[in-house]
Amino acid sequence: MALALAFHKGEFVPLEEATVGVMTHALHYGTSVFEGIRGNWNPDHNKMYIFRLQEHLERLVRGSRILCMDLPYSVNQMADITVEVVERSGYTEDLYIRPIAYKATEMVANLNLRNLKDDLCILAIPFGRYIDNEGAISCCTSAWRRIDDSMIPPRVKLGGLYLNSILAKTDAMAAGFDEAIMLNLDGHVCEGTGENIFLVIGDTLVTPTLESNVLPGITRDTVIELARNELGIDTVERSVDRSELYLVDEIFLTGTAAHIQS
Ligand code: PMP
Repeated sequence: MALALAFHKGEFVPLEEATVGVMTHALHYGTSVFEGIRGNWNPDHNKMYIFRLQEHLERLVRGSRILCMDLPYSVNQMADITVEVVERSGYTEDLYIRPIAYKATEMVANLNLRNLKDDLCILAIPFGRYIDNEGAISCCTSAWRRIDDSMIPPRVKLGGLYLNSILAKTDAMAAGFDEAIMLNLDGHVCEGTGENIFLVIGDTLVTPTLESNVLPGITRDTVIELARNELGIDTVERSVDRSELYLVDEIFLTGTAAHIQS
């Protein structure tokens, strides 16, 4: 029997017991950093494969520094805890694993990150397809521009930053699209609301550079590596014009939740 559980405040607890109070700083101001990690269940091996756990946790630690957090666990310790959450949960299906470090002090009307207590929670839940569409998805370009590094750093998954993605995704879905493609402040193509973007142009792949306010996606990195090493296809990282979205041979999005979605 699978059991929904979490590692929260230093203990393994049933998921419904991993709660926070309404005064929690992160709830009011988005002062959290999180990761989305896939556990892929392989029925033939009867085994859960967690995809690039180390890299996800390293990105979490980078984000925690921006929030002046001093996490009491190393990347290796958090990896061990994650594996234990997954093993103790006992799921035999695909998972979404969510570590979140957050400002836990119950204090409002305080905009200074320092001297606030940090807590960590790692939970795992069953999770199948993110975009509920069998074939190719439909995307619009959002009127909401991707937030700039000079405002909130988009290189790490900060909780408050995601309001930007949420506004774009909500608009896109209300208009009947599956996903929004966000442009930078300067009007160049940036990424999806929770995915990086690749364009197929002839026999090359093109994707916006890491300096164009994209999240340095772990799936993005994997696609670049596999395309080069397995298929001999190079990826050009460059600035992408909006008009190219209408002209290229194919477009696909990459992300932990979405996998590879054309
Ligand atoms: N961009 C954004 C804004 C995201 O939220 C995600 C999902 N983490 C990605 C790109 C893809 O990153 P990854 O492949 O590491 O999941």
